[in-house]
Amino acid sequence: MTLDKFETEKWSFEIPPEPIADSDIAETIESEVVVVGGGMSGMCCGCSASMAGADVVVVTASSKPIGRGGSNNAIGSKYQKEMGVDYDPQKAQEIVKVEQLINSFNLDTKKWATWVNRSAEFMDWQIDIMAEVGLKPCLENAYVDPDGITSCPPSAHNFWNEETPNGALEGAPQQAAGYASKIESTGGTIYYSTKALQLVRDDDGKGRVSAVIAQDKDGKYIKYVGTKAIVLATGDFSKDRDMMARYSPEAYEIFKDKITWDNIDYDAGLVYDGLYPGDGHKMALWVGAAWQKNTTCFCNMHIWPTWPNPEGLDSFFGINMDIYGERFMNEDSNIAHILNVVRHRPQEKIFYVWDADYANIRDEWNLGSCYKNVNGIPSTPASAMPEMWDGNVEQGTMIKADTIEDLLAQWDDIDQETAKKTIENWNRYCEQGYDEEFQDVESILVPVKTPPFYGAKTTPTDYTFLTVLGGPRTNSKLQICDENDEPIEGLYCVGSMIGDFYGSIYSFYVPGLNLGSVCGALPYVLGRQLAGVE
Ligand SMILES: Cc1cc2nc3c(=O)[nH]c(=O)nc-3n(C[C@H](O)[C@H](O)[C@H](O)COP(=O)(O)OP(=O)(O)OC[C@H]3O[C@@H](n4cnc5c(N)ncnc54)[C@H](O)[C@@H]3O)c2cc1C
Repeated sequence: MTLDKFETEKWSFEIPPEPIADSDIAETIESEVVVVGGGMSGMCCGCSASMAGADVVVVTASSKPIGRGGSNNAIGSKYQKEMGVDYDPQKAQEIVKVEQLINSFNLDTKKWATWVNRSAEFMDWQIDIMAEVGLKPCLENAYVDPDGITSCPPSAHNFWNEETPNGALEGAPQQAAGYASKIESTGGTIYYSTKALQLVRDDDGKGRVSAVIAQDKDGKYIKYVGTKAIVLATGDFSKDRDMMARYSPEAYEIFKDKITWDNIDYDAGLVYDGLYPGDGHKMALWVGAAWQKNTTCFCNMHIWPTWPNPEGLDSFFGINMDIYGERFMNEDSNIAHILNVVRHRPQEKIFYVWDADYANIRDEWNLGSCYKNVNGIPSTPASAMPEMWDGNVEQGTMIKADTIEDLLAQWDDIDQETAKKTIENWNRYCEQGYDEEFQDVESILVPVKTPPFYGAKTTPTDYTFLTVLGGPRTNSKLQICDENDEPIEGLYCVGSMIGDFYGSIYSFYVPGLNLGSVCGALPYVLGRQLAGVE
């Protein structure tokens, strides 16, 4: 295809469907605020608007409130204060700047300021709502960067109860349900299993967006009129092949054979196979929205831990080698960035080697426990780690041997002789406290000397897909805009589909940023604005 063709021909998702005729509409329901999508951002916005006095309707294709994961970042909440965590917007500037730098400032810094300045208030509000449904807050542990550059204090909040103590993995669906019950108890209505299909833009498609037409599970068309706003909150577009190829080409290339494209599940929860088909994005484009300014949407991808530190954010801080048996980086990195590094290695493979003593780099490993162990999940003592690795050896995801030679001999896809020398050099760097090749900080120079020895490798099959973030051009008031940055009156969006909140990568250095910002503080503020209380 030539560039001309690329610019003049339309993608399938850009072509609007035939408008649904008025005569086909079985029912019209009017409300001040109509939220489309019952995930965390939609429920949060609806709840905020409803509690602030607006008349709210939520229309969602899902059969229930939707959430996944559960880490919600906030800066200076009442719970952080209660737990003695000294954190505020001024102190957060360090990590916020790191995040913005990682993305070359190719993002909307004004939206970030809303999150930074309002996240504590939002979290305090949320804590009270969740308490009503028996959910308690806890804080995930601090991220301590050995190089001291990307550290982040305990700031990811999650919500848990005795039945589901691991709020970081299981909390979000319960939070969404907590918002839903508050919406209903404050007079709002939620229509489940009702899929939005088209927006109605008045004045021959040039005026205000006044309604959305949806179809319920019996096939009936219902028009939801929003006298103040239609708020799109339909999640991401990772299940639409064309949209991925057009707007997230790098992610598309990496994951095109992994994502199953044709099985759309509007109840998608904790899945790693793509989420939604971008219905809200398409509806916005069809009524004249421009795409966000960044060329590619951020793609949240990482490699699920096949290395010995299963703590979440860290990549493996010990020796990393490529197929030549050579090291290639300062190993102090994290799970989001290591994927990019691996992609630049031949055959996209990296190999990790460590020894039995590696378990003792810390006294205990936090595999699900939270800050000050509030959720009661015990830490794992160092002495239990080798047993865990042995389990992985049995499952075939790690290898083990009594000598380095025997260990390396189990891999036929690495240069074993060079690898052996690389490990000897590494041990020398550990002894002298200085890494002559990549200047790893001394605290992560852990020798590979004490048998048994362990190994693992990452290949492209270990790449894990989460979501794509971004969408229609969105201003800092969360209004969806046209090509001239003019807001389309009446049309807003929240959540993963907000345009230009992120640049190219979701780094995890601010854990739970998405739930805390675009799905939390920002929809909270928008809900209040739409209700007219600010
Ligand atoms: C496995 C996994 C774990 C994650 N964990 C975290 C985490 O811990 N912290 C974090 O910050 N982020 C996490 N994320 C990112 C996460 O997806 C988001 O933070 C969050 O769930 C997005 O919320 P949302 O409201 O934008 O969309 P979603 O929660 O995806 O909700 C979209 C809603 O819109 C509905 N919908 C879609 N199309 C239509 C339509 N046409 N009409 C009506 N309704 C429609 C859907 O049914 C759904 O109810 C995780 C992602 C994955 C995949």
